[in-house]
Amino acid sequence: MLRKIVQVGDPVLREICKPVENFDETLWTLLDDMKETLRDANGAGLAAPQVGVPIRAVVVDVEEGYFEFINPVFVYQKGEQVGAEGCLSVVGKAGTVRRPDKVKIVYRDRNGDRYSIVARGFFARAVCHELDHLDGILYTDKAESIRDSED
Ligand code: ZN
Repeated sequence: MLRKIVQVGDPVLREICKPVENFDETLWTLLDDMKETLRDANGAGLAAPQVGVPIRAVVVDVEEGYFEFINPVFVYQKGEQVGAEGCLSVVGKAGTVRRPDKVKIVYRDRNGDRYSIVARGFFARAVCHELDHLDGILYTDKAESIRDSED
């Protein structure tokens, strides 16, 4: 089911999200809905607070594949990249943001099993952007410049 993507100004986007404790049907439905909502919006990533649920869950859909990261934590962040970024919760804008070029995170999947992954380039950018959402941070807080976009 498609969920409504909340827009900047909604206080839920500024919450420090709570860790997921129950890997149950409620979570699976949320993740399924987030995937559908992300694909419908043609985005690269979506965090649970963006659909009004302040828990530590994000989905990322990039060249490397589709991923669900629950309770993700950085192991390391290396290097640097500067590039364009947008956000489904900040419609009509794009910005230039400095991010690490390579990151490693540990996370749980929808069943609660523990994994780690290394992301580089745009994938790393998407991971950093989505994990920021879990701490109430928007890319516009970090952008070196922001402009109007067609999207
Ligand atoms: Zn975003």
